[in-house]
Amino acid sequence: MKYIGAHVSASGGVENAPLNAHNIGATAFALFTKNQRQWFSPALTEQSIAMFKARCAEYGYTAAQILPHDSYLINLGSPEEESLEKSRKSFIEELHRCELLGLDRLNFHPGSHLKKISEEDCLKTIAESINIALDKTHGVIAVLENTAGQGTNVGYRFEHLRTIIDLVDDKSRVGVCIDTQHAFAAGYDLLSEVGFDEVWRHFDEVIGFEYLRGMHLNDSKKELASRVDRHETLRNGLLGASPFMRIMQDSRFDNIPLILETPDESLWAEEIEWLKMNREK
Ligand SMILES: [Zn+2]
Ligand SMILES: [Zn+2]
Repeated sequence: MKYIGAHVSASGGVENAPLNAHNIGATAFALFTKNQRQWFSPALTEQSIAMFKARCAEYGYTAAQILPHDSYLINLGSPEEESLEKSRKSFIEELHRCELLGLDRLNFHPGSHLKKISEEDCLKTIAESINIALDKTHGVIAVLENTAGQGTNVGYRFEHLRTIIDLVDDKSRVGVCIDTQHAFAAGYDLLSEVGFDEVWRHFDEVIGFEYLRGMHLNDSKKELASRVDRHETLRNGLLGASPFMRIMQDSRFDNIPLILETPDESLWAEEIEWLKMNREK
């Protein structure tokens, strides 16, 4: 089964996210469970939690169809002690919010070295942050997202994600989310048929499909290996239709949230409809 949706708004309360997803014909969705530009937010209310769960049940969204995303402020690989502490605390709070909402995974960008430590040390710090967070929470999987490699972000090579996974104690609670735009910008050629097959063969060899807990389906405004993070509406960018048609036809991408983070939300319903049309019969 393909679960297809978008990163929808939760403004006015998390309980609005399943409604917004339903209204665009989505069978999956992503959301922020708090204001993504703040370190900490007021606790979720009982009413908000109950309504979120009721609406997910009403519209048919199970945990396997939902991919919450953490705040952009968090840097679990930070070389600065104060920001690292704050990031770890905030990340744990985000995992708790997922637990309360009955969600089983939390998507986040691995971290940035800020040119103050090596990539290697940054990856080790990230793994340590994950171990601390998993120890203090229950059930929720930490889902590392591959990056475009913009600025000082790590996580742009599959090997980076593997290094982190290797250092995480509880392998059952770590996973990955692959963003097609980030992969392409990082130098993974998803465009040609040969390239597509080779990227996923390499992914399976280095990380393994058993760790794949979600995908971000974005076309790209920027060239292969540009290392620039710029999403485009599906079929309007440099990736075009074929990589997304191949994903829709491929059972390795079944039963995980496939999420649009494309820039024009007025087109999401159409993009979802087009993806659904291309599913394997
Ligand atoms: Zn993404
Ligand atoms: Zn991005």
